[in-house]
Amino acid sequence: MKKSNAKKSNARRYRTSRKRLINKLNRVFGLYIRMRDNWTCVTCGVRIRNTKEMHAGHYIGRNCKQLLFCEYNVHAQCRSCNFAQRIQDDNNKYTLAIIDKYGVDILDWFETIKEMGNKYTNEELVDMIGHYEIGVSDLKTYDKVKK
Ligand SMILES: [Zn+2]
Repeated sequence: MKKSNAKKSNARRYRTSRKRLINKLNRVFGLYIRMRDNWTCVTCGVRIRNTKEMHAGHYIGRNCKQLLFCEYNVHAQCRSCNFAQRIQDDNNKYTLAIIDKYGVDILDWFETIKEMGNKYTNEELVDMIGHYEIGVSDLKTYDKVKK
């Protein structure tokens, strides 16, 4: 009885810490992507330096966990392009932008990754958070030097 309670609370703790890790990575990864792309929309080219107006737009949607934090799959995208893409399936512009950046083979590569179906371990999430925190601070330094 006691043992199973302990198990349950461990599972809960695991879930909340995992959720926290994913949220944290989401924030730092999204910021990194916007900075990397110089706050410029991948599909219409508008530049807005504001996290509410400039999103980190996923080409393959967020329900594909394997490509959630893939740099080839996520780009700065203004709110209206990101939203238009979701409701009208207006993926063409984004497809063209992706092909233009990485070549047409990237689309097959996305499919391969999707089929692999593995998800990030908590250790990988922690590593990625560290990686993108450094990335963001490097880009901040670069930004200062540029000015
Ligand atoms: Zn746009």
